[in-house]
This record gives sequence, C-alpha cells and structure tokens, in this order.
Amino acid sequence: MADGEIYPRDPDTFDYGFPPKDPQVVGDCPTCAELVLRRGKCRAVNNRSGASDMNVLLREHQDQEHMTPEQRARTVIL
Ligand SMILES: [Zn+2]
Repeated sequence: MADGEIYPRDPDTFDYGFPPKDPQVVGDCPTCAELVLRRGKCRAVNNRSGASDMNVLLREHQDQEHMTPEQRARTVIL
C-alpha cells in the first residue's frame, strides 16, 4: 500500500468473501454433480430457496467427503 492510500485494494472489486461463492463440483464426484445440477434446475424456475438448500447440501457433502481432518479442523464456524 502506497503512502496516503486509504484502501489496500479497489473496494469495488475486492472479494470480501460474502456472500459465499457457490460450491462447485469436486473432481468427477457424482454427488457433487447431482447437487449442482439440482441447484441449476431450481434457479431455472427462480426457486432461490431450493437453490440455497442445494448449496447447504453441497457444503455438508463436501465437508464430509472432500475435506481432510486437518482442513476440517481449520474451518471457522460463524
Ligand atoms: Zn462430492
């Protein structure tokens, strides 16, 4: 950060991490693919609640199946 600069990064493009990004398919996991497909179908009919539910299921699945114990231990629960 240069002297006199207020923001370290452009506040219009800085990634604040919220709202969280949609979880994506990990590798060739069929469960991830199915949940992402279902999320897309929910969004196609403007079912935002259903799409949010799919993201919750995806995060739960990915926490259980795709994270190492060390990664899980570093997860901050807000
Ligand atoms: Zn998966």
